[in-house]
Amino acid sequence: MNETIFSKIIRKEIPANIVYEDDLCLAFKDITPQAPTHILLIPKKPLERIDSAKMEDQTLLGHLLLTVKKVAAEANLNNGYRVVINNGNDGGQTVNHLHLHILGDRQMQWPPG
Ligand code: AMP
Repeated sequence: MNETIFSKIIRKEIPANIVYEDDLCLAFKDITPQAPTHILLIPKKPLERIDSAKMEDQTLLGHLLLTVKKVAAEANLNNGYRVVINNGNDGGQTVNHLHLHILGDRQMQWPPG
């Protein structure tokens, strides 16, 4: 996988507003928030997108989803929130390092654009 801006954030080479970190993942505020609360949760393992994940990543993917709960609770998103994974071109993915968007503190609309 090629280097991305998120690799530099993981290595703390560029600043980010980090809200959670453990051995497997990192969460930080999105630089262009699409909601009053917009946090990105990324694995430290360099997975390009959800399509790149293999069976060996099952535990990591489960950890990411359970960490969403923790990050959302710490952000006080008690009224609900949306979790988004953009995958590839048609999915609107712009950074090729798997990331989960956690969006909250406003009413979400459906269908998404
Ligand atoms: P996606 O379009 O799903 O690939 O999402 C990439 C997200 O990364 C966008 O919401 C960007 O605003 C966000 N982003 C890009 N660079 C940074 C950065 N340096 N710090 C925080 N968020 C970033």
